[in-house]
Amino acid sequence: MTAIAAEIASRKRIALVAHDNKKEDLLEWARYNRDLLAHHELLATGTTGKLLEEALKTPIVKLQSGPLGGDLQIGAKISEGLIDFVIFFWDPLEPQPHDPDVKALIRIAVVWNIPVACNRATADFIISSPLMSSAYQRALPDYQGYLDRARRP
Ligand code: PGA
Repeated sequence: MTAIAAEIASRKRIALVAHDNKKEDLLEWARYNRDLLAHHELLATGTTGKLLEEALKTPIVKLQSGPLGGDLQIGAKISEGLIDFVIFFWDPLEPQPHDPDVKALIRIAVVWNIPVACNRATADFIISSPLMSSAYQRALPDYQGYLDRARRP
């Protein structure tokens, strides 16, 4: 498939999610990067968002809690072009009631070539990238064939 591009603005729309055993990790990371995060728009699944709001003293758009559909809401926003970067600290050591949603979120992020940080090291690399403060042309596959097929009578 030929690649086409979608522009990511310098102010990023960042989605944050952490499973329960990873919430402290995410909060620590977010506190450390508070000043950098202040330049961007933040949204999060319900509980993660509430904790981040308290930790950062900044408003966060809070979606549904993950097990109740929050991961899927983020996935839907990705497919609508409303998310630029996902920080998703999922727990590799514990099964989740919403494991299919976890997989769906990671999958749809890859479909749309959205950067996803699944651990602190990746989140550190991404947040310190010069691309965080500039616009970026995100290459994405040309899905026109799929779209045409969906519209065919
Ligand atoms: P939560 O959801 O932020 O509401 O805890 C996260 C998740 O488990 O996906």
